[in-house]
Amino acid sequence: MVHGDVGELMVADLINSNLHIWRNEEVMAYFHKEEADAICQIPLSRRDVNDDIIWLHNSKRLFTVKSAYHVVRKLLIDGNWVGTSGGCAERKLWTAIWKLKLPNKIKFFGWRACNDILSTAMNLTRRKIIKESNCLLCMRELESTVHALWDCVAVQDIWTGSIRKLQKWSVHGQADMKQLMEALLERLTLDEWDLFWAQAWFIWNQRNCVVHGGKLKELSSLTKRAKEFADEFKQAQDHLAVQNRQQVSGDVWQPPSTAEYKLNFDAVIFSGLDRFGFGAIVRNEKGQVMATISASGPRVNTSDEAELLACCRAIEFAIDVGFSRLIIKGDNSNVIQAISSPLQNFSLFGNVVNDIRYLLCGLRWVRVGCIRRGANKVAHVLAQYARNTLDEDMYWMEDSLPPALEALYHDCLSL
Ligand SMILES: [Zn+2]
Repeated sequence: MVHGDVGELMVADLINSNLHIWRNEEVMAYFHKEEADAICQIPLSRRDVNDDIIWLHNSKRLFTVKSAYHVVRKLLIDGNWVGTSGGCAERKLWTAIWKLKLPNKIKFFGWRACNDILSTAMNLTRRKIIKESNCLLCMRELESTVHALWDCVAVQDIWTGSIRKLQKWSVHGQADMKQLMEALLERLTLDEWDLFWAQAWFIWNQRNCVVHGGKLKELSSLTKRAKEFADEFKQAQDHLAVQNRQQVSGDVWQPPSTAEYKLNFDAVIFSGLDRFGFGAIVRNEKGQVMATISASGPRVNTSDEAELLACCRAIEFAIDVGFSRLIIKGDNSNVIQAISSPLQNFSLFGNVVNDIRYLLCGLRWVRVGCIRRGANKVAHVLAQYARNTLDEDMYWMEDSLPPALEALYHDCLSL
């Protein structure tokens, strides 16, 4: 987290433009060590490129340290996710979280909790954002993640009303969430593991509600709601899974293998609006939605340009949300050829092509290919949808995807 208010500091202030290197001392002064290290590891171009490359991580397209910080933080999270430093127990934990039969927002919540990056009072005081590190619910103890979700006397009502295994288990005082998870993973069945996280999610939401001035609800009712929530989600998933394997003629979306995720992207130029829209979606081998984005970009002149920018942004998005083994598919053959080619690209958009190649090199495994439009419908619909939300990027980390339900359904038919 950033020390002090550096929201308006430009990244150029952190770069020695003569030597093309980071100003290490300044970076160290503004960021905590691990983040500063990560920033300083970002390679800077040695080419004499103009400073007009579009920053893709905020709506104003201006590169600020604040937005760079968010990107770096996501990359750090990604590093934790795929890090080889994690032992067997840790890998087991990430797999178990990823396999939760719950909406992706709860998987991400679980992953954040176990990485200790939730905005608990302790984390916020460590980052000098607030001064009081005690728990706002019990007022007695420091609010670590494991305290907020498990140890706090105020949330014990929830666990007391929960399933017997969680209710009876009076062991507390685990050092952190990972330790607690290790113990829980040994004791719980998969269904119970889902329920634990649904309840933890409700607890965290309730805690946030109180922190932001709301009233503490009857906590015991949350247990019931969490159970219903988890059950409803499972029923909806089962319903999807038993859909007919109807053969669809023409081009169809193909799921990736279990080891990879598929990223589809597309772009649409909005005539008369001086903008283009782009959409991207990451899905797994079952066709389940992992992450989606629908956003708009500045005026472009050709569809190739729009598709290229969309491709770059889609890959960055997929990396940001933690995917490192990707099959990347778009329906513009010029773009796919440009980024797949080993030859240097001297076109007007060579910079973007190089950016994309650079991003591809950072992935653990990648395959890029061109598909016909029929197999790229969801991304196309998401790109079109951006017309409705020009001022804001839309993200969905869940399996419900309101703007593209029909297109998604169409793809599911071919599974
Ligand atoms: Zn407490």
